[in-house]
Amino acid sequence: MNVAIIGGGAAGFFSAIHIKKNYPEAEVHIFEKSNNLLSKVKVSGGGRCNLSHDNISNKEWLEAYPRGRNLLKKSFKVFNHQDAMQWFEEKGIALHTQDDGCVFPAAQDSQVIIDVFLKEVNKQKTPIHLKHQISSITEENGKLRIYFQDQNMASRLFDKIIVATGGSPKMQGLKWLESLGHKIESPVPSLFTFNMPNETITKLMGIVIENVKISLQTSKLQAQGTILITHWGMSGPVVLKLSSLAAPVLNEKKYQFKIQINWVNIANNDHILEELQNIALRNPNKMLSNYRPYQLPERLWLFLLDKCGLPSHKKWQELGKKGFNKLINILSNDIYAIDGKTNFKEEFVTCGGISLQEIHSQSLQSKRVPHLYFAGEILNIDGITGGFNLQAAWTTGFIAAQLG
Ligand SMILES: Cc1cc2nc3c(=O)[nH]c(=O)nc-3n(C[C@H](O)[C@H](O)[C@H](O)COP(=O)(O)OP(=O)(O)OC[C@H]3O[C@@H](n4cnc5c(N)ncnc54)[C@H](O)[C@@H]3O)c2cc1C
Repeated sequence: MNVAIIGGGAAGFFSAIHIKKNYPEAEVHIFEKSNNLLSKVKVSGGGRCNLSHDNISNKEWLEAYPRGRNLLKKSFKVFNHQDAMQWFEEKGIALHTQDDGCVFPAAQDSQVIIDVFLKEVNKQKTPIHLKHQISSITEENGKLRIYFQDQNMASRLFDKIIVATGGSPKMQGLKWLESLGHKIESPVPSLFTFNMPNETITKLMGIVIENVKISLQTSKLQAQGTILITHWGMSGPVVLKLSSLAAPVLNEKKYQFKIQINWVNIANNDHILEELQNIALRNPNKMLSNYRPYQLPERLWLFLLDKCGLPSHKKWQELGKKGFNKLINILSNDIYAIDGKTNFKEEFVTCGGISLQEIHSQSLQSKRVPHLYFAGEILNIDGITGGFNLQAAWTTGFIAAQLG
């Protein structure tokens, strides 16, 4: 059996290595269009490679994938983060799990991951063909023929092919797979931060607030977590999470939309009112500026008072019903206009790709073209930030390598 792996990235390498393990007699070839192997692994996690995540429940694992959740639910039963971590450790890579659950090589250097992959494929004597961009695939008597972009290169026939070409930012880059009959979900970016050119809150840049809830106005999409105010708008885990959950919707809106922020992440306004009334009772003569509810950062509290039109020198006892309502509204439903997005430099992914309806979920084999498999970000699977995208590459690479 000879097998072609298209794409020398995370999923391609993981597949190639496991095919040789599953079928030692198989001849495996890796075709990579560029001159570099594993280039995204190299830059991943700011050069440290956040290769997976640990210490969260199965439910949290699935919630980390806005797209691909159902498929991964099955796939993780076959190969999950513990299997991946064990695999890397068995290959001699010590791992470190941060308090936030993100898993990195203890060396804090993505190169150690690359070195292991290269060592494995060398050991397995897997030929790697750099600067070999595949432009099309055709079926031929139960086999598959690949053609190269460079027409001087002769086409080649394989028994099986795994496509692991990663996320394509443009539909054009997926046409060759669409022409084989696969439905493609339009590729759109995921994991980005929000630009707010017309909001003065940017003057609070550097402020971090834990446990806020942000919702996309006029939708049910929302996320909870830590927010960071930046000089261009808002960032932090909660923003990245909402960008991921809402990626296709935000793309449709051309990144012009409004968010509602609940700065205290309390859904029931009566509870907020109770807290504010208690503060007023206990501190009647204190100025609003001198007592911050929910330990909000001082600069944010003063900003919110100004935004809702309450003078900071006003005393807590002078608030009155209108004043309490203004405060409740600004704390629980503070609205901001977004205009544009900025790439999150640590990690960005493409949502969209091969529709999961087009593949057998157990094997990741195409329903349209027998012997053709998919692994990694080319599939319409993507996760939030925190090692989830590379884990999806390991898991789908492992499953595709079973060639089932
Ligand atoms: C800056 C950055 C940081 C990131 N950090 C993290 C992180 O810390 N943790 C995490 O979980 N995820 C991270 N990600 C996401 C993660 O890197 C990807 O989800 C993952 O690399 C996808 O693996 P893949 O093998 O599917 O695709 P890729 O790694 O993109 O590999 C695909 C390969 O296929 C090649 N190729 C494409 N088309 C062809 C063709 N027609 N013929 C031949 N070769 C082709 C490409 O050149 C590429 O080498 C990061 C992404 C970026 C951009």
